[in-house]
Amino acid sequence: MAVVLIMSLLKVNSPFTFHNTYAALGESFAVPTLPTPVKNPNWLAFNTSLMAELGVPITPVEQEALLPALAGNAVPSGATPIAQAYAGHQFGHFNPQLGDGRAILLGEVVTPQGQRKDVQLKGAGVTPFSRSGDGRAALGPVVREYLLSEAMHALGIKTTRALAAVATGQPVYRDTALPGAVLTRVASSHIRIGTFECFARRGEITQVKRLSDHVIARHYPDCAKSQAPYKALFEAVMAAQIALVASWMQVGFIHGVMNTDNMSIAGETIDYGPCAFMDTYDPATKYSAIDVRGRYAFGNQKSILQWNLARFAECLLRLIDEDVDVSVAYAEQALAGFSEQFDTVYFDLMAKKIGIQTRAIAEPMVIAFLTLLEDLQIDYTLAFRQLGQVLLMGTHEPFLQLLNDHSQAEQAAQQHKAIAWLEHWKSALAKQGDIANVDAGTHLQADTNAALVQGIQQVNPAIIPRNYQVEAVIAEALAVQQNMTAGAPARYPKFEALHRALQAPYDAAHESCDLAQPPTRAEQQGYKTFCGT
Ligand code: AMP
Ligand code: MG
Repeated sequence: MAVVLIMSLLKVNSPFTFHNTYAALGESFAVPTLPTPVKNPNWLAFNTSLMAELGVPITPVEQEALLPALAGNAVPSGATPIAQAYAGHQFGHFNPQLGDGRAILLGEVVTPQGQRKDVQLKGAGVTPFSRSGDGRAALGPVVREYLLSEAMHALGIKTTRALAAVATGQPVYRDTALPGAVLTRVASSHIRIGTFECFARRGEITQVKRLSDHVIARHYPDCAKSQAPYKALFEAVMAAQIALVASWMQVGFIHGVMNTDNMSIAGETIDYGPCAFMDTYDPATKYSAIDVRGRYAFGNQKSILQWNLARFAECLLRLIDEDVDVSVAYAEQALAGFSEQFDTVYFDLMAKKIGIQTRAIAEPMVIAFLTLLEDLQIDYTLAFRQLGQVLLMGTHEPFLQLLNDHSQAEQAAQQHKAIAWLEHWKSALAKQGDIANVDAGTHLQADTNAALVQGIQQVNPAIIPRNYQVEAVIAEALAVQQNMTAGAPARYPKFEALHRALQAPYDAAHESCDLAQPPTRAEQQGYKTFCGT
């Protein structure tokens, strides 16, 4: 059967030179799997600049020739497609049988900078890991992943990238029939904590070692020079994932399903499912419909990361030392340092958001600011962004405008609290020599260090992918697909406008733009996201 399929699937010339180092790890790591062709592939989006970054600049004619390969209707030459095996803890419970149920890795490409990248089709049909699933993805979640992952990249946060989104022209059946799509995802690798768990839980120490050595060579080459390479690997992964989750917190991102199979060993944001950006600040915010208890709520992401890293440490115990008791003692000690290490990275990022140089001064000020935002129910993104405006305009007004969503009586009391924090903050800025005059209402513009404002604006986005905007883009894509006329080129103006704006999220030009506006608190009520890619 497999031979017939291989014979029957078209081969097309590939612009990529594929490598297959992961497949070479051995049979238990991945299963050769071909995509299943689709009826009527047509472009939703294509990332020309990412192609160039991969070292494969492409003309429009060459792009057209790539459509069959990125829809799963043809295999690009040199590719040996595989589905990867993995396991993982989902909502705290171990599942030994996960794996690429709807994803097929075409191969690895090496960029001109020498970085190895996976090129993977997501939603390209059933694989040996599909269990009862159809191996397909609905169009909405594909559009969502394309937009959000590219927005994350533009925000400067490590993430898988979106190379293409192709509508399949055939339905997928969820609660109802929906248009289907295939996403082409580019990642430093698709190795997860769950990949380690797959072998470690079965006691397959040789495989754990082979995987660890692959990961060291691929992602953390310095560990190979260490006296204790597997301890060094644990520490490198811990540092990478701390940097990642702290950067999510910095921009109000909620991953939504931080199961161990969704945590990339390379420290990239991966598996955009029910993820979303928070509007009004509330650490309990969660959008995922399946996360009933809020395990993966915004404010829980630090402690869940520590829990996930403990699962990773368990996988390495037998490599760290022959005596497992020694390994356990090491892992416990390393994990005991997690909280402090996380806070160091997190408060360093948060200090930059308020322009304060010293951690000891910044930390209580950040905590007080977040308490204020929660108390006053202020938009997380705009609260930080407006701090730059407060300095530029020399008045509290840009910040106080954020309270407009409240009644007049409420506003007076709230303004009082907000002004108290702003005054305290400005005194700290004056003490560090960045602003000269701290009197309320006076014009600070001339006395404010321009580099301070610039620094604040560089880490506080003016625009993020707001849930209601993302939903409008998805609705447009659904409508276009449902009313396709043969021969007429499909256009997605809302997608294009939002995607373009999100490419320069720190740009002041967005401050007055409609796309950057938060929804009202009433509009935010009850918003839910779903896994179902
Ligand atoms: P996720 O919720 O994306 O982390 O996926 C959890 C597991 O379910 C992974 O092993 C996926 O490959 C698998 N899965 C999710 N959706 C499908 C689908 N439509 N068909 C087959 N497998 C799926
Ligand atoms: Mg997943």
